[in-house]
Amino acid sequence: MQQIASLTRAEFDERARGLPSAGKIAGAIYRQALREGRFEPEKHVVGDVAAATWRGRFALTVPAARCHATESGATIKAVVELGDGLEVEMVHIPMGHGRHTLCISCQVGCKMGCRFCETARLGLLRPMGAHEIVGQLLVARRTLGWAFERVVFMGMGEPLDHPEVLCQVLRVLTDPGGLAMPHDHLTVCTVGVVPGIERLGELGMKRLNLSVSLNAANDALRDELMPVNRRAPLAELQGALAAYRQRANFQLGVNYCLLPGLNDSREDARDIARFCAPLGRVLVNVIPYNPGNAPLTRAATDDEVTRFVVWLREEGLRVRRRVTKGRESMAACGQLGNVELRDGRRRLPVR
Ligand code: SF4
Repeated sequence: MQQIASLTRAEFDERARGLPSAGKIAGAIYRQALREGRFEPEKHVVGDVAAATWRGRFALTVPAARCHATESGATIKAVVELGDGLEVEMVHIPMGHGRHTLCISCQVGCKMGCRFCETARLGLLRPMGAHEIVGQLLVARRTLGWAFERVVFMGMGEPLDHPEVLCQVLRVLTDPGGLAMPHDHLTVCTVGVVPGIERLGELGMKRLNLSVSLNAANDALRDELMPVNRRAPLAELQGALAAYRQRANFQLGVNYCLLPGLNDSREDARDIARFCAPLGRVLVNVIPYNPGNAPLTRAATDDEVTRFVVWLREEGLRVRRRVTKGRESMAACGQLGNVELRDGRRRLPVR
């Protein structure tokens, strides 16, 4: 049985070959599945037998979801239940002027072990299939009624841990026969998985957005905060990012979670500037740390964030201070993967 949400339109057509009226109705079935989250072949063919033939070859599993918390400002976190009962989280983030971004997960848990991250405390339970990752968009629209224009791969799990799955998801989301998302409405956020960055470059989606979670710009500190750095130190990551540039006006996002007392010194600001220097156009997003259930440090004060932003600007960097959205409901960056999910881990078999 093939999950429709894991296929591009061309792949769907290919696999539908020989089914009743395939040449006439495949496009409509695919479009309805991806845009409305419905697979209803009986509405397109005459007779139960013909419909059953379609159902025998394809399935569309739209996961269940429940909103976990809502707060002022309307950042909403939802828990998405996958077919085997394991759960991931996604977040609906208001961006102003009525626009929204959907932040989705790529894995159940994560093996990367970043020390400031709640998801890391879950460990990796299992990767997600392409249809499960795409399924988050379907459930967001169909079940939760969320509207969104942009998608960021910044929820639970490192998206480039399984680059082939991510590349397939990107192909499906941008396929004109289905969701038809513009490439520049998608942002992949990585902690710096170098082979994954190289694979993403080969995909050739020139307008795709890429951001890297830097969080420390010297190897000693980054080794400590983000174990991925022991495999691919900063010089290697810098080389991969410099080689990635897909278009002349490409702007790399550099995310920097500000951890008071750990990575917020004047020297840290200089290190960031040195790291970014060969990377062309860069926008540094300073993200105040969100203390979770086992905080690494405290939250930065407004004055501390402002001071660091000023230092970065003195170094000639373009900087955006990220407003923390969703901290009260544990829906903010680095806070996905809560106690409830950890309890779920104990209840459910790990594959
Ligand atoms: S920050 Fe991202 S890559 Fe690091 S542990 Fe958390 S989910 Fe995984």
